[in-house]
This record gives sequence, C-alpha cells and structure tokens, in this order.
Amino acid sequence: MNPTFRTDRSAALYERACRSLATGVSSGIRRNVTPIPLYFERADGPYFYDVDGHQLVDYTLAWGPLIVGSNHPVLNARVAEQLRKGYTYGAQHEGEIELAERMVQVVPGVEQVIFASSGTEAVQSAIRLARAHTGRDKIIKFEGHYHGWMSNVLVSYRPKADDPVATLPVCAGQPASEYADTVVVQWNDLDALAAAFDAHPGQIAGVLTEPMLANSGSCMPQPGYLQGLIDLCRRHGAVSIFDEVITGFRLALGGAREYFGVIPDLSVYGKAMAGGFTMSAVGGRREVFEALRAGRTLHAGTYNGHPVNVAAALATLEVLSEPGIYERMHRHGQAIRDALERSAARHGRPLVTTGVGTVFSAHFGLTAPPRNYRDTLKADAAAYTRFRAAMLARGVQLLPDGRWYIGAAHTDRELERVLPAIEQSMKEVGS
Ligand code: PLP
Repeated sequence: MNPTFRTDRSAALYERACRSLATGVSSGIRRNVTPIPLYFERADGPYFYDVDGHQLVDYTLAWGPLIVGSNHPVLNARVAEQLRKGYTYGAQHEGEIELAERMVQVVPGVEQVIFASSGTEAVQSAIRLARAHTGRDKIIKFEGHYHGWMSNVLVSYRPKADDPVATLPVCAGQPASEYADTVVVQWNDLDALAAAFDAHPGQIAGVLTEPMLANSGSCMPQPGYLQGLIDLCRRHGAVSIFDEVITGFRLALGGAREYFGVIPDLSVYGKAMAGGFTMSAVGGRREVFEALRAGRTLHAGTYNGHPVNVAAALATLEVLSEPGIYERMHRHGQAIRDALERSAARHGRPLVTTGVGTVFSAHFGLTAPPRNYRDTLKADAAAYTRFRAAMLARGVQLLPDGRWYIGAAHTDRELERVLPAIEQSMKEVGS
C-alpha cells in the first residue's frame, strides 16, 4: 500500500470492531470489502469518503444498489417527502400500486408484482410461488450462482476445483434437510440441465438462474442458452426463474429480459431497483401468481411495500427512464474494459473482461472469457488483489472479486482519474 494512503482512524475503528466482536457487542465487520479496513462516513455522487479523509471514486456501488449514485436530489426529495407523510403503514398505499404498474410497463413480460425488502426474501417468495404453482418440491440451481443466504439456495456457491458438481453447503449451520430438495447443475450447459430434469422426472418445481453470472466472474450466457433453459422448463412443467437481483434495472431498464430478449416465468429484483434503499420484488407471468391470489399460498413481511423504500424505487425508476442513461453507463464501462485489456496487453499480462458495460469482471491470467464458475477458478486472483490495492492507493475503490459496477453518476471526470490509475496499477502488479 502506498505509504501516503493513511488509514489511522479506520484502523482504530477496525480494532474497536474486533474487540466488540470478541465481546459479542456487535458484528460490524465486513471482511474482504477492501484490501485494508476502511470506514466510510459519507458518499456523494460517485464518491465515497472515509474517516481518514480520502475521497474514493467508487466502483463497488455498495455491491450494486447505488445505480444513480449517492445523495441524488430526486431520491432525496421523494424520500424526504415520504418521511413527512409516514414511515410505514403496515397496510396498502398508493405508492405500491404505482410501482407495480411502472414495473409492468417497463419490464417485458411482467404482468404481476409482489414486493419484499431484500433479494434473499424475494428469491424465497419466487421459490414458494413455483412450488405452489406446480405442486412439486425440488428446485434446480447452478454452481457459482448466489441467491441469498438461505440454506436451500446457499449451496455450491464457491466449491473448490476438485469438488464434484453436487449440492454442497457453504457454511456451518446448514442442516442437510434444508437443501435436500435443491439440485445443483453446471451452468451454460443445456445437456446437463436436460439430464437433471430426466433424473428427477415430474419433481422439479423451478429452475433458478442468474441470467448473467454476475456473482462468479460476470460470465455471459451462451447464445440460445437462456431461451433453451426456459423451453426445457416449459417442456417439463417447471417454472423458470431469473434471479435479476443484480441484472434487474442494470443491464437495461427492463433488465436481462430486455437485454437478452427472453421472457422467463418469473424474475426477482432487488439492489438497483431502489437505488440503495431496501426494496425487492418478484414479477412475472400472472398465472404463476394464481396460488397467491387464491389464498393457497402465503407471501408476508412487515416491511413489504415499505412506503419510504417504494418512494426511493419510484424515484430511481424515474431517473433511470431518462433517455440515453443506459447508453452512457454502458459506454463508461466499455471504456474501462478497453483500458484494462489494452493496459494488461502492454504489460504482457493475459487479461480478459466479461459481462456488459454496467457490470463486468476482469480476470487476470485468462485468455478466453470464462463460460461458467469452473472456468473462473483458473484466473489469477492474487494478481487482482494486488491490482485492487494499487487502485485503492490511487483513490479508486473496487470489489475484491474482479467485479466493477458502473452507475449513472460516473462521468468523464471519473474516467480521467481512473484510466491513468489503471495503467499505473497494472505496471505495479508486475508480470
Ligand atoms: N440474488 C443475487 C443474484 C444476489 O447477487 C444477491 C445479493 O448479492 C441476492 C440474491 C440476495 O440479495 P440480498 O443481499 O438483498 O438479500
């Protein structure tokens, strides 16, 4: 780390958090978010400010939500207005109708919407809808895909290279009974998916996939893969579910459905949907919600449709509806991807970037785009860790896993700072 990058106050807070954790007072430690512990005190537009006085250009966007940046005047105004009208009602209000109607308008194939507060919850609601709709229990998920921290989906997220493609728990505290109905399959492989359906005839309620594998290297779906997945689901009477917690309102206003031109039965939304407020949703084909409308299944939550979060979501969608905004974000991301690849080539380092302009990943050591999680294991993660530390020393904040998030607050001004930082950091990483 550059010696001029002082972190005295952050280090003191980190020590306090460690002491606090040891004595069970609090658990305010998020490991791995920066190469060294940083504590933030405010954010504005595309910048984060830490307690040691650094202004950092932020490309983490808080793991995706901050798609219009921080301290946005439209979001601030709408949220402040709602705060004056009430924090929460625990009952229906006009905003949730307006938001559902807006989502139906802008997301292709979405006919009905339900709301929750986090991606984790909304994924569970989608699974319950699929089970209630089909009367079946099993779900298929793919290796390397993340769908929140519930035991039934937190399996085979980061298996080791010599682990089998199987349903493997991620952490202690996951009883086998909770993931007994989860089948894990290799992604981007329609034959593997077809074989999984054949191995469990008439038992699969739904197939859950990130439409672009943002959580493991931003792998892109092979041409025809997503439609093939949807078709296989139809053929076998299962519900196709896109987990769009990352891709929703990010790849395009209509998310992966619009970007890839495919319509699954259900999609799950979160993160960018409310620009940093805690809002999530499940949207999709009306028919799949029938069990809910008929009262045969339950979707609940004290904070579902929370008025402040709904106000933030409506404001975010309004900002994101501005003409040209996605083109600008994609261009910004593409400029960074080009700079990373050109700079690596200049320094004799193999590097590929994968994904799209608004969310992509950089892989040191790979010469071809990874197709799935297994391929990403061949990348040189240690080189990226060094690169990220070098970027931080130059005032650019990145995620630990090679992923970059681009938002509407990133402008040419930030590029002027980031592009030279990439070149200098690449030099520092060495070959
Ligand atoms: N699904 C995907 C694709 C995610 O990336 C995440 C979180 O990163 C989740 C679900 C869970 O969302 P949350 O953290 O809001 O519970």
